[in-house]
Parts: sequence; C-alpha cells; structure tokens
Amino acid sequence: MTVISAAQYRRRMSRSVPESEHDARSGGLVVRGVTKRFTSGRGSTVALSDINLTVDRGQFVTLIGPSGCGKSTLLRILAGLTDADEGDVSIFGESITRAREAKHIGLVPQSPALLPWRTVLENVELPLQLNRRAGRTPSDNADPREILAAFGLSHVLDKRPDQLSGGMQQRVAIARAFAFRPAVLLMDEPFSALDELTREVLRHELVDLWQQFRTTVVFVTHSVAEAVLLSDVVVVMSASPGRIGTTIPVGLGRPRAELVELSDEFRAVETDVRIALREGWRHGAS
Ligand code: ADP
Repeated sequence: MTVISAAQYRRRMSRSVPESEHDARSGGLVVRGVTKRFTSGRGSTVALSDINLTVDRGQFVTLIGPSGCGKSTLLRILAGLTDADEGDVSIFGESITRAREAKHIGLVPQSPALLPWRTVLENVELPLQLNRRAGRTPSDNADPREILAAFGLSHVLDKRPDQLSGGMQQRVAIARAFAFRPAVLLMDEPFSALDELTREVLRHELVDLWQQFRTTVVFVTHSVAEAVLLSDVVVVMSASPGRIGTTIPVGLGRPRAELVELSDEFRAVETDVRIALREGWRHGAS
C-alpha cells in the first residue's frame, strides 16, 4: 500500500471534477423526489417512492434495508443505468448523463466481472484504453500500476483471474473502479459473495483505502456491522414502497480503531440501525 499514490490520486481527483461555484452549492450527490415504478403483467410495483438524499463530497454513505426495498434500483439510477420516473439526481452539479459520459461515476458490482483471458494489469488497463475514445486522456486516470500497488496487488499484476482467490478478484474489481478516479463510487454489495473472514479483511482494507482516497461512496449492504464500520452515514430503507426511513450518522472517529467493532460506541450505533430496520419492517408489513 503506497501513501504517495493515494496522495497523487487525491491531487488529481481534485483537478478532475471542477470546483465551480455551482459545484460548491450543489452539496455533492443530490437526489430529489425520485420515484420509480415497474410495470409487468402482474401489475405495477413502486420500487422507490419520493427518495431524497444528499451525499456530501468525500462522504461514505451506506444504504441498508430488506430485500426489495429498492437499494439496487436506486444505485442503478445513480449509475445512470435506469431512469427515474419522477425527480432528479445530480452529481456535483452535473446531470447523471454528463457525469456518466465523463466517467465521474464508478460502479463496483457484486461479482468482480473480470475478463478471464486478461491479466490483472490488463483488466485494469482495458476500460482506461477503451475510454480514451470518450475523450479521456491518460492524465485523467490513475496509473494502473500505482492504483494496483495501493490495493496491495503489485505481486499479482501478471496473474489471470482464475489464479486468484475470490477476495483478490474483488480487490482487482475495486482497483479497476478507482482507476478512473471517479467523483462518486457506487458499490453494490461488493463483498456479499465472499466468506465471512475475507469480508472482514476487505472491509478493513476498504476503510483504510477510503481514508486515503476520500472518494464519495454510496455502498449497498445487508450487513449492519459492515454499514457501521465503513460509513459516515447509514441510510435505512424500508420496502413496499421503497422509501428512506431513518438516516443515522455514525459518530465514530476516523481513522477507525483496529478493534472498533468491540467498542460500546460501535454497538450503540449498530443497535440504532437494527431498531430502524425493525421499524421499517413493521411499516412495510403493515
Ligand atoms: P433491493 O436491491 O433492495 O433488493 P430492488 O431494487 O432489486 O431491491 O427491487 C425493488 C423492487 O422493484 C422489488 O419489488 C423488485 O421486485 C422490483 N423490481 C426491481 N427491478 C425490476 C424490474 N426490472 N422489473 C420489475 N420489477 C423490478
């Protein structure tokens, strides 16, 4: 892990998204009145109802809630992969379409989705090469070798994905997303397919890396402990229709202490999140 490359990343990041007056007023990632319905032969589902959310620049925000509460749909709207039926979303004053075209939005899916015939380095380089055509120059991006070093992956640059563990593959996928130096990184349960021990290691690695890079992150999880460990703010959602119930600030200091999960403060926030989840469940079930 190299602190220097993280500092370089932050310096370049501050150049890639202009801090115009409008940006400063925009409050980071802003979701206003977003509603999304899906219609099928069996009728209409309100996946999201009147979602309002602001994520400040450099904040780590987690969405948590029961299956079907619209977490993935909201993330897909933020990624520009699905349109909202009502409301609007902006990222540092840019529309989602513009932010997506400029590669200001990074997405880490549940599975790493690496190309099996390419090496680790080639997997990270490929999207950067493809996007030169979209007007990005190499100086808009992090150096793939630097970013892989920051993720502790220098020793596997020439390995192919099937030569790596699931945890290492997911590290490569996260490094690939960071390589674009996105203004906002969206992470959709990136550790859900991993065993508990690997998850725990990766959570701590991510919290350390985020501490260095300070990218704005929206992270989806089903794990209360994961949400509290990683986040500045936990957004608890409820289902039927998908709504934001409670927004819980995590008042734990940064950097997070090594055994922070064992502290009374950590347990108190975990309890708040669990209570909010239950209230949301009652609300959704009634
Ligand atoms: P979560 O990620 O919280 O589990 P989703 O965003 O996947 O929730 O889904 C929210 C609701 O929208 C669910 O009721 C789901 O069945 C419905 N839904 C999601 N995607 C579609 C789709 N493409 N077509 C129809 N319904 C969908």
